[in-house]
Amino acid sequence: MTHAKLQTTIAGSLPKPAWLAEPVKLWAPWKLEGDALIEGQQDAVRLVLRDQEKAGIDIVSDGEQTRRHFVTTFIEHLDGVDFRKTRTVRIRDRYDADVPVVAGPVARKKSVFADDARFLRAETTHKIKFTLPGPMTMVDTLYDDYYNSREKLAWEFAKILNQEARELEAAGVDVIQFDEPAFNVFFDEVRDWGIKALELAAEGLACKTAVHICYGYGIKENTDWKETLGSEWRQYENTFPLLQASKIDQVSLECHNSKVPITLIELLQGKDVLVGAIDVTTDRIETPKEVAATIRKALQYVAPEKLYPCTNCGMVPLARPVALGKLKALAAGAAMATKELEER
Ligand SMILES: [Zn+2]
Repeated sequence: MTHAKLQTTIAGSLPKPAWLAEPVKLWAPWKLEGDALIEGQQDAVRLVLRDQEKAGIDIVSDGEQTRRHFVTTFIEHLDGVDFRKTRTVRIRDRYDADVPVVAGPVARKKSVFADDARFLRAETTHKIKFTLPGPMTMVDTLYDDYYNSREKLAWEFAKILNQEARELEAAGVDVIQFDEPAFNVFFDEVRDWGIKALELAAEGLACKTAVHICYGYGIKENTDWKETLGSEWRQYENTFPLLQASKIDQVSLECHNSKVPITLIELLQGKDVLVGAIDVTTDRIETPKEVAATIRKALQYVAPEKLYPCTNCGMVPLARPVALGKLKALAAGAAMATKELEER
């Protein structure tokens, strides 16, 4: 029986060239400024597009080459947040960070990423995916000195994200993904207002909408946290039934090399599942066979047309040759799994 090819994609970020930002470093400052920075970022987008296309990735992204940080780069463009003041807060109940302060009503002056999305659209004929931070994760990356309510602030951010998402859609984006790693930590809030805020952010969009929930980059704070999670990571069990009942089309999750029981995918019935088949916490490049094995396991629970082989998380902290190797392994493994489906 003939099957359509499994469509590959990535969670979002890719490493930046060394002339743009220091490699293998999270949130590395830019090495260029002004017009040279914009030109450099666009050149970097062209390079990551070429890498993804040559590797065989179907639904491509800009590798977040225009952002320093997946949350704060968006927030920097909003009114109401004071970046001159910082306060120390605990992020995702895991580590302390100095973060900006919400000091007044939050608002979006103008679109943040629409120009980037138009540039991306013009540079490739592939389907394109664009990532935005999710409302709960935004709230969790700030000190709120104005609303004094995580829920209220999330609601305001959701409205802003929706304005932004509508412009990205108009720019020709095929998939808009909200990154919500906070959904793996604050289960009561996810149930009480997190899903509703996410749905508000995605309201009225005709393009595909996705949410990415992971166990984070391979930084020490995350690996230490994972050590405390026991032999089975069942965090998704709390969120998946809620997402299954939500209006969000796709769920991007961590799978390969993690302790997430694969059976939890069953809780997402009817949704597109972006199966993490690439570990982003190690420099070891997966073999296509390993990728295919992860996909094969997931295929027990997801129909092939709803399964998108993907990375566990963003690859920005990795060295470029490692990330490139992983992109190739992802596409090659997905091709192997497609071939097996055809022979079935
Ligand atoms: Zn992630």
